[in-house]
Amino acid sequence: MTDRYAVLGNPIGHSKSPLIHSLFAQATGQDISYTAIETPLDRFNETVLGFRAGGGLGLNVSLPFKLQAFEIATEPSERARLAGAANCLKFDGERILADNFDGVGLVNDLQNNLGCLLAGKRVLLLGAGGATRGALLPIAAQRPALLAVANRTADKAHALQRDFAAHAQLNSGGFDDLAGQAFDVVINATSTGLTQEPLPLPAGVFAPGAIAYEMVYGKGLTPFLRQAQSTGVSTVADGVGMLVEQAAEAFAWWRGVRPESGPVIQRLTVPLD
Ligand code: NAP
Repeated sequence: MTDRYAVLGNPIGHSKSPLIHSLFAQATGQDISYTAIETPLDRFNETVLGFRAGGGLGLNVSLPFKLQAFEIATEPSERARLAGAANCLKFDGERILADNFDGVGLVNDLQNNLGCLLAGKRVLLLGAGGATRGALLPIAAQRPALLAVANRTADKAHALQRDFAAHAQLNSGGFDDLAGQAFDVVINATSTGLTQEPLPLPAGVFAPGAIAYEMVYGKGLTPFLRQAQSTGVSTVADGVGMLVEQAAEAFAWWRGVRPESGPVIQRLTVPLD
């Protein structure tokens, strides 16, 4: 019998997850169906429980439901607990397991696909929302020399520093606090890639040989990536690899089979210029 999975979100029409998981299923010979379900904003729990009652085995969860996905879980992973958010659920009888694969997807893309090992690097995350929360532990686990978070609302970055104090040594502040600092890896985890707004970054924030990574994908050269290029950064990337890598983690968690991510990333990549 075909096993059922889906992604929930609102809106969800743009989601690449059904394509990614159907390519993974074909490549690994797994008999699954994977659909996209647009979920009314006030019906997340009912949709999850209804999907499970209909025999569904697992869900990906997209915006704006990642906090609710964490809350409905009976057994969240440590990284989902620290992020306060989950992007993947697995059903096992009455148990609802939750994990957050966004951060590990980012790290796998940087290290395995882009050749950027994080150990010993100075890493800067721009933004202090859910994506940064999910990324902090997986990045810290790679032992960077420095891990900093800068956010438009500096207090939110400071709050992250406090929340993660037992797990990661973090610097935190606003964009002004970046003056005079340089980083080897600069990751834009704000939503400005979607809105195409520039960030007020000091010019010296990109160290020589730095990589600039935009979490948003499929938008070409965003203002952040253009800004990086204009200061001499030659390695720029968007978040398509992160998207596919987090999906590969989910697929392996559900099915016990790890799909190859490279061919799927290639298929989904939109040229940056
Ligand atoms: P979120 O929780 O809504 O956080 C948004 C962040 O962007 C906040 O830190 C916010 O700062 C900042 N921001 C918004 N407008 C800004 C502006 N004009 N100037 C400076 N900062 C601004 O969103 P999220 O869940 O963290 O996601 C962030 C982005 O990552 C989204 O665009 C999402 O599409 C992308 N993402 C990609 C993947 C992937 O697989 N590639 C996975 C997850 C997320 P304030 O706190 O000051 O409001």
